[in-house]
Formats: sequence, C-alpha cells, structure tokens
Amino acid sequence: MENISAVFKEKKLKLTPQRIAVYKYLCSTNEHPSAETIYKALQPDYPTMSLATVYKALKTLTEVNLIQELNVGEGSFRYDATINAHPHIQCLTCGKVDDICGMPLDDIMIKANEYTDYEILGSKIYMFGICKDCK
Ligand SMILES: [Zn+2]
Ligand SMILES: [Zn+2]
Repeated sequence: MENISAVFKEKKLKLTPQRIAVYKYLCSTNEHPSAETIYKALQPDYPTMSLATVYKALKTLTEVNLIQELNVGEGSFRYDATINAHPHIQCLTCGKVDDICGMPLDDIMIKANEYTDYEILGSKIYMFGICKDCK
C-alpha cells in the first residue's frame, strides 16, 4: 500500500478512498476481475460508488502503471495488480483468467527475433483452453 501513496504523490494525483479500494481489491485477488466484478465486490463497503467511478479509478491506476489492463477479447477489459509481464490463460467454458506462473518469456522473445527484424521490446501472451474444474 505504500506503493500507491508514493506513486500518487509523485504524479500529483488525489488518492481517493475509491481509488485505494479498487487497488486494494485488485491486490487481494488473482482472478483478473472486470470492472463490473470489482464494482459488485465493492458495493457492500462502498454503496455510493458508481460503476463509472470504478472505471475511472481503473483508468488512472493503469496510467500510473500500478495495474495492468488485459484485453482477453471479451469486449471488456480485465485487470491485474501484477504488473510484470506474465502469460495469461482463459477458460473457454467458465471464462476465468489465470496466470501461467514461472514460464520464462525470454525464450519466446529470443525465438521471435529469428522471425522479425523488429527490435522486440515486450510481449503479451494470452492463451485459452479448458480449466481443471470444467474438464
Ligand atoms: Zn473453467
Ligand atoms: Zn495476471
């Protein structure tokens, strides 16, 4: 949590209770929730917070690089408080998004170098399949 205060201070942004709540919630889960999911989860504690406020908080947190936005092709984004590059996998049946932990991304970048003359700066890996519970 010191992280968010330091970052917001540096960027001269107001650290509102709503922004803290959204960030805290994202740090507490590894389920990569959508804005709607976050909104519903925070409703009991923040009954006056609107979905628009959640969207705005997510946008700001993404801009200052405290969270990352994941486009899993659903028409709405998912959010992740783990900002280092890591591959994601989504279940085609229940829609949940998980991290693929411990997979070295360097190998893929080195491999990709053989097929392009671009200087590769990063990657977003997104896979899909059927999760253990749905199988
Ligand atoms: Zn599933
Ligand atoms: Zn993730």
